[in-house]
Amino acid sequence: MKHVETVAELRAEVAATRMAGLPVRFVPTMGALHEAHAALVRAARADGGFVVVSIYVNPAQFGPTEDFARYPRTPDADSALAMAAGADLLWSARDDEMYPAGESTRLRTGALGDILCGAFRPGHFDGVATVVAKLLAATGADTLYLGEKDFQQTIIVRRMISDLLLPVQLVVVPTVRDTDGLALSSRNRYLSADERPVALAIPHALDAAAAAADAGHDTRDALTALRAVLDAESRLHVQYAEIRDSATLAVRERLAPGARAFVAAHVGTTRLIDNRLLRP
Ligand code: AMP
Repeated sequence: MKHVETVAELRAEVAATRMAGLPVRFVPTMGALHEAHAALVRAARADGGFVVVSIYVNPAQFGPTEDFARYPRTPDADSALAMAAGADLLWSARDDEMYPAGESTRLRTGALGDILCGAFRPGHFDGVATVVAKLLAATGADTLYLGEKDFQQTIIVRRMISDLLLPVQLVVVPTVRDTDGLALSSRNRYLSADERPVALAIPHALDAAAAAADAGHDTRDALTALRAVLDAESRLHVQYAEIRDSATLAVRERLAPGARAFVAAHVGTTRLIDNRLLRP
């Protein structure tokens, strides 16, 4: 596995790949890599071609009071994990190239970026869409791999790819969970030993919503089950617990195919999100 920093080096590697006729598979990350990132890399590896992994903690997607400064940075472990999972090229993007002096162009994600996480993180998805567009432009990727855990992000990026006519195929990789059910996240390492059981109320609530959905027909029953489990954990501070359509993120009264439960909550100062498909 090669490791590059500049866009010029990245493009030279990608150009050599293109000469060899290989498609470029791309896994963007913010580093602090864990087993879920490895699953994305392995999915890319399994599709064949040249696998590029980027590491960039994107300042534009963090709010002024969020954890940008303390976001975990583990470059040596990241490099080992990316290589073991099958990456061909690791790209540690640089601030001065991603946001060069005088940069003044940003994408706006509109209504899709104002709901769910967007309602609590104003501008977050504009920052995500902007950086993903830049990363795709730099890599010239044919296929982009994103995780289902950040489901709203997959919908927004899918829309961005279509709106900007980008020749990129999006692959969404299923959420990877720890054995106790908690979705893997770089932010889980912020949780103390006594906070972790509190966080488990999130996957438990999603399970309860899925069971209620199996038994009933309307969204209200599943929402009641979802919120009951969350509310029972007093140390969990819920931002939202909602059920929306997987394709449009619209709210529906009936539990139609594609209905999905979404949760965001704080445990102490750690913000966690998760989601689960209720109706296949
Ligand atoms: P991040 O480094 O947190 O920005 O995540 C990079 C990519 O990994 C994103 O596409 C995430 O959706 C994905 N990802 C993170 N955690 C998980 C998980 N537990 N399961 C599946 N994908 C994940």
